Amino acid sequence: MTNNPDYKKGNNNPKVFYGLPKEIKFCNNCTYNNQKPNSEIEFKHNIKTKKPIIVFNKNGVCDACNLSNQKQRINWKTREDELLELCNKYRKKDGSYDCIVPGSGGKDSFFAAHILKYKYKMNPLTVTWAPHIYTEWGWKNFQSWISAGFDNYLFTPSTLTHRLLTRLALENLFHPFQPFMIGQMLFPPKIAVKLKIPLIFYGENPEDYGNKKKKIDSPKKDIKFFSKKKSDDFFISGLSHKQLAEYGISDNDLIPYRPMNINEVKDNNIDVQYLGYYLRWHPQENYYYTIENSNFIPSPERTPGTYSKYSSIDDKLDDLHYYTTYIKFGMGRATYDSSQEIRNGEINREEGIELVRKFDGEYPIRFENELFEYLSIDNKNFPKASKKLKNPIMSKEYFNNLTEKFRSPHIWYYSNTEKKWKLRKTIFNNY
Ligand SMILES: [Zn+2]
Repeated sequence: MTNNPDYKKGNNNPKVFYGLPKEIKFCNNCTYNNQKPNSEIEFKHNIKTKKPIIVFNKNGVCDACNLSNQKQRINWKTREDELLELCNKYRKKDGSYDCIVPGSGGKDSFFAAHILKYKYKMNPLTVTWAPHIYTEWGWKNFQSWISAGFDNYLFTPSTLTHRLLTRLALENLFHPFQPFMIGQMLFPPKIAVKLKIPLIFYGENPEDYGNKKKKIDSPKKDIKFFSKKKSDDFFISGLSHKQLAEYGISDNDLIPYRPMNINEVKDNNIDVQYLGYYLRWHPQENYYYTIENSNFIPSPERTPGTYSKYSSIDDKLDDLHYYTTYIKFGMGRATYDSSQEIRNGEINREEGIELVRKFDGEYPIRFENELFEYLSIDNKNFPKASKKLKNPIMSKEYFNNLTEKFRSPHIWYYSNTEKKWKLRKTIFNNY
């Protein structure tokens, strides 16, 4: 691989993977590059899917920054009145649950559930799709959330199925978090239908991170993200359910990952809303709010690949997720974290660039053994899949080989002098 001419430093016309833009550009306001994919309907994602990517305007500013600028002009009092109206529409007088708040008990879901209950006097039911492998502090924070006065449904998918799907998602898409994302997206509306609680409150709209061409923010989540027409096929880990069956994954195993029927969502008037549309959403302030109102603890160490200690800290697999985005798009977790903090005015762009230079793409060594064990498909537990995979047991060597397969030559070159992979263009040597 490293002798492949595609990955030569001087190659002026390198191949481009995933339909990404050939010329790498950086936002003039934050640390994003123009390779950042938008979030999409994950269960439609197969190996051939071309991902839509973030849009930059003619001044070289990304959509996430443009949306954030627009938000400066919002009248938050009017938005809060809209929230009260929405709450009053669904508010139950008999004390039963009147809304669902999905989350892990991290700072954002804590803030959402807490403010809905104690300020807006709603009766939220919290629901959680379990992480792959809880961190010690993530589990404690989940308990602190419940201890702050919330009933909770915790759904834990079969570890066997989830491990195999995660491994296949890594193998096929280099996106180990994909099965988790699908399950996590589907669980709240499924519970909403079962318990007849149609209103669901998420925190921040992911569009705030630059997800659509649409220039206005929206309070509602589109039902296409969790439902489909009966006739439409669906994919998990890039494979159809027929292909998954070849690995020993049955229809029954797929229940938690199966999208809802669109008619079921419509008939039950499922209404998925973003609290961040109605209330000024500020992750750092949510953190302060959470520690003030609970026993929330930050991670004892910074997360590999970034400098932060308090966002998205409950899952050991998270470290690996951001490492894969760095390989595929040249954007690691420090890029995501710093660009958000620039938009929120906590740091300036120069500081953001320095943080990216220092931390982005750091290999997540701390849970390596545990993660490789999780991703290893042994004979005993997975008789079919272990035969079908060429390298069922995940090792450092195999992981590195797999990583190389997903490096787009327009993003990476191999330095023969330094004997390592390097980004062709970075935000810190761009100028
Ligand atoms: Zn930007």
